[in-house]
Amino acid sequence: MTNLRADLKLVVGAATAKALAKGLKIETVSDLLRHYPRRYAERGQLTDIAGLELGEHATVMARIERVNKRRMKARNGTLLEMVITDGKRRLQCTFFNQAWREKELVPGKNGLFAGKVTAFRDVLQLANPEYELFDAERQAEAMDDFLAEIIPVYPAAQGIPTWVIAKAVRQVLDVLEVDEDPMPIELLARYGLPSLESALRGIHRPSSWQALNSARDRLKWDEAMAVQLIFAQRRHSLVSRPAKACPHTEGGILDAFDKRLPFALTSGQQEIGEEIAGDLSTEHPMNRLLQGEVGSGKTVVALRAMLQIVDSGRQAAMLAPTEVLAAQHARSLREMLGDLGQAGELGAAENATRVTLLTGSMGAKERKKALLETVSGEAGIIVGTHALIQDTVSFADLGLVVVDEQHRFGVEQRDALRSRGSDETSPHVLVMTATPIPRTVAMTVYGDLEISALREMPVGRSPIKTSVVPVAERPAWLDRAWQRVREECGKGHQAYIVCPRIGDEPASDKGDKRPALAVLDVAPELAEGQLKGLKIGVLHGRMPSDDKDAVMQAFSRGDLDVLVATTVIEVGVNVPNATAMVIMDADRFGISQLHQLRGRVGRGSVPGLCLLVTETPDGTTTRERLAAVESTTDGFELSRMDLELRREGDILGAAQSGKKSTLKLLSLLRDEEVIAEARARALEIVEKDPALGNYLGLAHMIADVVDEDRVEYLEKS
Ligand code: ADP
Ligand code: MG
Repeated sequence: MTNLRADLKLVVGAATAKALAKGLKIETVSDLLRHYPRRYAERGQLTDIAGLELGEHATVMARIERVNKRRMKARNGTLLEMVITDGKRRLQCTFFNQAWREKELVPGKNGLFAGKVTAFRDVLQLANPEYELFDAERQAEAMDDFLAEIIPVYPAAQGIPTWVIAKAVRQVLDVLEVDEDPMPIELLARYGLPSLESALRGIHRPSSWQALNSARDRLKWDEAMAVQLIFAQRRHSLVSRPAKACPHTEGGILDAFDKRLPFALTSGQQEIGEEIAGDLSTEHPMNRLLQGEVGSGKTVVALRAMLQIVDSGRQAAMLAPTEVLAAQHARSLREMLGDLGQAGELGAAENATRVTLLTGSMGAKERKKALLETVSGEAGIIVGTHALIQDTVSFADLGLVVVDEQHRFGVEQRDALRSRGSDETSPHVLVMTATPIPRTVAMTVYGDLEISALREMPVGRSPIKTSVVPVAERPAWLDRAWQRVREECGKGHQAYIVCPRIGDEPASDKGDKRPALAVLDVAPELAEGQLKGLKIGVLHGRMPSDDKDAVMQAFSRGDLDVLVATTVIEVGVNVPNATAMVIMDADRFGISQLHQLRGRVGRGSVPGLCLLVTETPDGTTTRERLAAVESTTDGFELSRMDLELRREGDILGAAQSGKKSTLKLLSLLRDEEVIAEARARALEIVEKDPALGNYLGLAHMIADVVDEDRVEYLEKS
């Protein structure tokens, strides 16, 4: 009899236990049973050899076709050559100096063969594969395994092939007794899920495909629940440091601002505005993520939240990733507020507040003034970089922190914010991101945040037409691209040309790809060639900030026709007259980055044009990525495609051999419902019993299913 917490050694023996620990970090009975098969082979069905990929560690079920022994004079040994087949294709296997194997490797026998797929003279092969033959004598011993219709194939590692894992699992299942199901019985009943024990038996030794599916459904729930419980507990822990309630003030600065807004809020802005207003009215600290593409109107939403705080006599801080962006935010907030933001100045409105910019590079005198306004409470809204929360800036009474650009801002930083409220309170937190991610990913990656999304653009955004320029197939299209740039500039508009690299780095000789195109090479080349006669400026991150500002301002004023730049223009730059963008070596950028970049055009009344120049041939995943960007400008749709193309593994860690990963079965794309339900149930449970004292099984399950390191990773990425 053994349970999940039992010592693996006692069941499978010391040698196997050691190999499992070394090769796959499997240490307990639970670890082993949570090491699910990667796929299943159906008895009598050989593995498709055509599907093998070079370099992978593969296990194939195949038949031995022929075996041939040779003496190798040069290396003074023997070479055993074997050809195995799936009935259609053949795979070459070789064994050096293992002539004795000839006795057991008899043509006609079936078996499992495992090893790293290599190639020799363009023929795929397995060198020194490990194997397990399905022969008559051994069938008695391994009967269960090989008579089963559905044969599990495990993620394996060097020295620990799938059948060794299968045998260990069989030994464990033979004596397993799960004394108590960690999942509450009501929950299992509600969702029609099998018990843990039957799910574990079902996934390792399925009696039918249907039994397998039901087992997977249950084990997916375990994963979703474990992750959501962690986040639910984290959210609950916020309560220990309450916020101050800042309910809406009738007739305050927010009402005054709303009255003079030059446009009507979109319904999304309205809804989210109400959610936030509700959050701010309670002592439970708000911890909300606001997603919305560039230009979707997040800033207005954030400003309205800040004004509700100011109405309560408290302060709001807005943090941007760079000083340039902080200055831009301060400017646009002041603009939007007009005389409502001019407290202390002549002509200020009644109820007015003050927007104060506070950055590290300010002159000493200016900075002192800003610090004073902040500590005295004269400043209702303080704008700065993330450094604002790290250094010694004192606030009079910080009630809300708005963070722009989530992807550069981690959990520890969010936690640091919490300590900045006065009297042991915690400020409310609103995080804004312009990189939309599918809801399920958000629920998993930012699970401790409430999530709101602005999906519609306010009216007046011009469409952006995106086209791939495939230089490999259609070299002439590149000339056409430059011609289009000249046309746009001829109409008095402006263009961006984006390159992946600056070009002042020391040459690196590693890698087989040619180095990406560089700003410092492309700009002079175009100036002498295709774009001769146009006024061309250069912008990149390693320029002194005065130079950067000067170039940006020249471009804003229209003194430059073309700006050749790195991705420094990705965020925040707003020049409505810029209508075209050419992205060189577009394949070097990710989907979301390309999408962000093109958001720089189409900001005025004229439709934008974005050309993605690439040398990558058609038919590759890279080209699929570019085609995705070409096909839609809906950021949420794009992030979904991105996830599909990257295969989720890259985001949350694949069920790769030798690595424990948190989500082995749960798919962020396909299991949306499970994730959403688990999130709701986890919240209920934690509300009732924050420490899970009455749910010890669940507490254990979290530890079994979720690797602590992985949680950290989920939070940081
Ligand atoms: P984001 O911060 O999401 O990039 P902004 O809040 O800066 O977007 O809004 C982009 C532009 O759209 C701004 O000029 C803003 O004044 C304008 N805008 C915002 N909301 C609306 C609306 N409901 N109707 C019309 N224009 C709007
Ligand atoms: Mg913005």
